[in-house]
Amino acid sequence: MTPASGGTWDADPDLGEVVVDEQTLERRVRELGEELADAYRDRPPLLVGVLKGAFIFMSDLARAIRLPLEFDVMAVASYGSGTTSSGVVRIVKDLDADLTGRHVLVVEDIVDSGLTLSYLRRNLLARRPASLEVCALLVKEGRQQAAVDLRYVGFRIPPEFVVGYGLDVAERYRNLPDIRVYRGPEPVG
Ligand code: 5GP
Repeated sequence: MTPASGGTWDADPDLGEVVVDEQTLERRVRELGEELADAYRDRPPLLVGVLKGAFIFMSDLARAIRLPLEFDVMAVASYGSGTTSSGVVRIVKDLDADLTGRHVLVVEDIVDSGLTLSYLRRNLLARRPASLEVCALLVKEGRQQAAVDLRYVGFRIPPEFVVGYGLDVAERYRNLPDIRVYRGPEPVG
């Protein structure tokens, strides 16, 4: 498929430079899929997507993992304002699946402070999975407050607020096909 140009996004004054372009995303997701297919060859995983940010990444990643697998999703909200997370996490939608004895692979969009992930990890481990690993598309360099045990990482990026490929600001930009710096006003709420 010929990559579409940035279209209307290129003219958006709230968007800054491209941090990861479409082709690079596609290539890395394919690589991660191959790595995961190898790692989970003998123990098909249950993919747990963290909504909403991970939905596009999870859908591309799942198709790149050439293994039978199952999905579930959960939604978390982190109390905090605008573009920073407080680390106090609330489960807005819980999983349907029972994790007991399952090989769980959590699919996350981005790890910033790492507080959301460390909460999630504790919460999911309490459900007694056979194994629990995390695959995060993006990790911000030098920002993690909590020790995060991340087995699979797409890209390490500079500590700037980014949007696109599932990531939003006030629900905008999730369908931007690449990842760009957000330079607009802080959203309220
Ligand atoms: P943490 O708890 O690691 O500080 O933050 C994790 C959550 O904050 C992510 O799952 C995501 O929802 C949000 N977040 C952190 N950094 C960014 C960013 O640069 N852009 C967007 N759109 N969300 C972010």
